[in-house]
This record gives sequence, structure tokens and C-alpha cells, in this order.
Amino acid sequence: MRSEDDRTGARSESEGSVSGRYPGDSEFVFELLACRWAERSWPPGGARESAPIVARQLGTRRRRWDTVVVEADPEALEARARFGPRTLDSDLLHVVRHAPREWAWYRDALPHPGYPWRYVRAAVHRAAGRGVVEKRRNGNRIEIRRIAPYPDWVRRIVAVENKPDLDAGAARALGAQLEHDVSRALADEVWVATAATGASVEPALLEDMPVEAGILALDFADGVRRDAGEVVWHPSRLEPDETDDARAETRLELAERAYGRGWRSFVGTMRPDCRHFELRRRGEALVPWCAAKGKHQSAAECAGSCSAFEPEPPRWRTKGWPIEGGPGKGIRRLLEGRREWVRERGRERAFERR
Ligand code: SF4
Repeated sequence: MRSEDDRTGARSESEGSVSGRYPGDSEFVFELLACRWAERSWPPGGARESAPIVARQLGTRRRRWDTVVVEADPEALEARARFGPRTLDSDLLHVVRHAPREWAWYRDALPHPGYPWRYVRAAVHRAAGRGVVEKRRNGNRIEIRRIAPYPDWVRRIVAVENKPDLDAGAARALGAQLEHDVSRALADEVWVATAATGASVEPALLEDMPVEAGILALDFADGVRRDAGEVVWHPSRLEPDETDDARAETRLELAERAYGRGWRSFVGTMRPDCRHFELRRRGEALVPWCAAKGKHQSAAECAGSCSAFEPEPPRWRTKGWPIEGGPGKGIRRLLEGRREWVRERGRERAFERR
């Protein structure tokens, strides 16, 4: 019988090349490893008291971060799970957060949204379809009732920029972006994650960074390990305007997107249905590997336009071999399963440390 690793193409870290201090010298892989490390070891250098939810390539219309860590209240996160694994967007949040304990006409129960009620009615139907509120008709009125109170589960939002090779030019460009983050204070803390160089003074420290941004040196030469991260510079807590309602809404929407998406969704933009697509083990992480190219491929090159793409053979899809539906679907299911498992474990670990 083949193991789970065999079925997905995952192999030990002794196979394949590991150059420098992170596998394949690939920024994309560094980012995936950084996400896995954050999921495993956040907060850097401290005891875990929150349950971290990690997502990648997330942000607002004006600013996208490489990695976002939402530090969640473990008990409230458990209550959030009652509303399902998918993101609640701003329209659904409006309904769910204000849905009453007892049946009421939705227009009486919900605050005026600032846009026509017909859009709210559509959101009510959508929310009921997702099972996150209850809905019934009373005459020609639609009444709603909550399934549970929507919990206050977000404690802090941390933004991380991944720059494995932080040279002076990259540091200057990043410095300007971080200045923006610091001034907006949408996150509670910002970090730059760079590949550890082994030098006694990390070069990133010498570069032109805002002093509020923390610097984290990650050593992935052996893949993801619990102690792969070292704090080089501690960040300052940013001082948000707690009375700014729009900011609070944006933060919650961001946290919800992180909750629904996680960081393993990268597989959705790649071609796990290609016969050369594998997952390779790097310490405690599984990252994509292209058997045809003999390297960690980037998300951009692993697309339908890839000249080496070959669909998985039809026989892989038959007789349930090696996983029902073929390896492409098997890989998706494996990563999805891991996300759920980690979400559970994150909560448990936070509880264990109390
Ligand atoms: S051959 Fe191309 S599409 Fe197939 S796994 Fe490699 S990079 Fe992805």
C-alpha cells in the first residue's frame, strides 16, 4: 500500500536540490515556507496565546501583503467555525452580525446599510442559502433570526512582507511600502521576513527600513522547523485609531478573507492535474515540485501555458488509483484537509498553552 506522501508525489527533503538557505532559491517557495512556519511557530520568540490564521497575498485595494497572520481568540474562533469554513464578505457580515435572536423583519433588524434595501434582501437570501442565518416568510415580509451570535474573534492582524534576498534596492522600495502600512495602521504590526544569511549582523538591519517594522530571519536550509525563525529587530505596535469604524470594518473583512482562503489555496492557480506536479517535503512543509523541470516551479510558470504541461493519464482517474479522481484532485483534497486540521490544531495549541 502506498503512503500518503507517495500518492501525492511528496518526497523527503534529502531529494532535490536545496541551494542557499532556502529551497530552490525560489521566492514563491520561500513565501509558502514562511506561511507554514508562521502557522507552526507564531508568534516569533514568544509563547502562543492566540490561534494564528495564516493567509498569503491578501490585502486591500491599495495594498497587498505577502503573508497575513490573524491572531485569533481561540474560544471565539471556535464560535466562528459555526458559520462554516468560507469567507463571510461585507454584505454577509452585515446580515450575520446584526441578525436578531428572535424572528424579525430584516429591515427592522438590520441597520440601514447606506445603499438600497434590495441589495440587503439579496444578501439575506444568500446568507440563508449558506445556513449562516435563518429565514422565513411572514406575509410579504422576510424575517430573519440568527443561528448564533457572530463572535469577536480577531485579536490582532499582522502583515509580513517576504523578501528572501533583501538587497539595498529592494529594501528601499519596501521601506516606502512599509511607511504606508505604518501610517495607515491597518495591521497592528508589520514585519519583513528575509532569508537568514548566517552573518552576525543581518544586512537587512542596516538597510533603510522604518524602525516600526520588525525583521525576521528565516533559515529554511532544512525546510520548516519550529526554530527556523529568529527575531533580528522587534516591531513596534502601530497605534490605530480605534474609533475609526471604516478601518474596523476593513480589518474584519480582511480577517474573514484570511479565514476562508488560508495560504494553501495556491494550488488553485497552479496545475496539480499535470502529471509532473508533485508536492515535496521540506521539513514540516509540503511545497510544489515540477518533476519535468527538476525544480520548485513558481505559480506563474505552472499554468496552462506551460510548454511542459502534460495532463495526468486517464488511467490515473480510473479504479480510484492512486486517489479517487486522480492525483490533481487528491492534492487539492490533501491541502484542503491539512488546512482544516491546522485550524483545529491552532485552536487546540492555543488552549493547551493557557
Ligand atoms: S510541467 Fe509545467 S504545468 Fe506541469 S507541473 Fe511542471 S511547471 Fe507545472
